[in-house]
Amino acid sequence: MKIKKILVANRGEIAIRVFKTAKKLGIKTVAVYSTADRNAPHVQMADEAVCIGEPPSNQSYLLGDKIIKVAQELGVDAIHPGYGFLSENANFSQKVDDASLIFIGPKPFAIKTMGSKLAAKEAVKKYKIPMVPGIDKAVLDPKEAIEIAKEIGFPILIKASAGGGGKGMRIVEKESELKSQMERAISEATSAFGDGSVFIEKYIESPRHIEIQILADSHGNVVHLFERECSIQRRHQKVVEEAPSAILTEAIRTKMGEAAVNVAKSCNYLGAGTVEFLMDAQMNFYFLEMNTRLQVEHPVTEWITGLDLVEEQIKIAQGEALSFSQSDLQIKGHAIELRVYAEDSLNDFMPSIGTLSTYKPPSGKNIRVDDGFKEGMEIPIYYDPMLSKLITYGKTRDEAIVKMIEAIDNYQVEGIETTLAFGKYVCQHAAFQSGQFDTHFVKDYYTPEVIHKHYNKEAEIAAKIALKMYIEERHLLKIPKHKSRAAIKNLFHK
Ligand code: ADP
Ligand code: ADP
Ligand code: MG
Repeated sequence: MKIKKILVANRGEIAIRVFKTAKKLGIKTVAVYSTADRNAPHVQMADEAVCIGEPPSNQSYLLGDKIIKVAQELGVDAIHPGYGFLSENANFSQKVDDASLIFIGPKPFAIKTMGSKLAAKEAVKKYKIPMVPGIDKAVLDPKEAIEIAKEIGFPILIKASAGGGGKGMRIVEKESELKSQMERAISEATSAFGDGSVFIEKYIESPRHIEIQILADSHGNVVHLFERECSIQRRHQKVVEEAPSAILTEAIRTKMGEAAVNVAKSCNYLGAGTVEFLMDAQMNFYFLEMNTRLQVEHPVTEWITGLDLVEEQIKIAQGEALSFSQSDLQIKGHAIELRVYAEDSLNDFMPSIGTLSTYKPPSGKNIRVDDGFKEGMEIPIYYDPMLSKLITYGKTRDEAIVKMIEAIDNYQVEGIETTLAFGKYVCQHAAFQSGQFDTHFVKDYYTPEVIHKHYNKEAEIAAKIALKMYIEERHLLKIPKHKSRAAIKNLFHK
């Protein structure tokens, strides 16, 4: 069935991202929004828009039944869930199905299986996918946990089976800390995910996060679209991503790709999905989890493969077969994404709220900005603090890095703190440039002292440039030479 009208059960940049492709394909669009987003760009961009409730997401963007009702009333064919909110809610996808609407994503069984990290490990077992050493069932008894931890060897990681977005994880260095950390993890998981199941994994010491994008259609075809490296993280959540990874060999890429395709097969996957792996210093890789939705960082894959992932999702959802096979796919060039969060990267990445008094994103060749805000808007406190995604491209990794630095320099944001300067710091760092880094980049290199030194140096350079320009152009101001000399002297005596 051809989809003629799509409702996006989401907000911000991802709603806009989906609308863009829908428009390209001649599909009508419906936005839903909370009262906090009344004037948001995603609402203005859609052909129709319906207010579904108050700002807190459990009174708006998480109201599945209400969203389905809106879809039925407006004659919608399909619902796209974006990421976050209802995107990994098997119940919701079932209800969409039951309402004779198309859910743009996998079937409830796949969402449910992969939504539980423990069920996921169970499902992929028969495909011999390498797994992080640990246990594959929930533990409740601290005594049992200690036995397991001793066997695996400290440090270990306690993880919430239902966890996501980097939440619900606790590192335990030694036996004496295990009981209290476990209690905390259980209570955190219960309040955040409504499921207190936790399990134990070996804490991989210098891991890189490398994930594989897959696409599966309803005709049995499954392909992978290569890897994304997402090791630059804070709080176990990604900030900088790139494709391809700077370190993968063709042989490992093929192996990881095959493993990811098998993970997708293990749950009868349908649509776009991501299989996440950890890679240790010896380049062994281990299955981490599968995200059964479009990923935040999908643009880097789009750039190196030339595909529109939302278009592929829509085609698959309407029953079409993939129009290419694995051997048709090729990596072309290099792409980097920076998540521009409304956060103060000089103050432990704490959320920075306020009004976007200045907002001028960069543009130009090899620069893409996916955003959902406009100048003058307030950043609502109710949702994810991501302001935009800045993506750059180059024929080589070095070119993409240079482009990213240039784009950051041309990105003007005032009124709130952002991760833009952090992104520049990363791009200018020797470890990142050489490709030799892991998930501890922030802990290892981004200490407040180093950063302040870095910024002071930048301020000094900026002042020197300004002075040089002033000297060169002072004739335009018609200031007599001796006077401007006195003015400069003054400047330095202050
Ligand atoms: P990605 O997995 O696409 O790389 P994130 O981990 O940052 O990106 O998740 C994207 C968004 O989805 C964030 O807003 C995050 O808080 C949210 N999210 C991810 N997993 C879950 C989950 N299991 N429950 C609730 N929110 C989640
Ligand atoms: P989420 O569902 O929150 O995305 P993941 O299992 O994907 O949880 O892990 C998120 C991040 O946490 C990883 O990218 C990695 O940085 C870290 N992490 C997870 N498991 C381990 C582990 N066993 N050892 C070391 N780091 C880990
Ligand atoms: Mg993850």
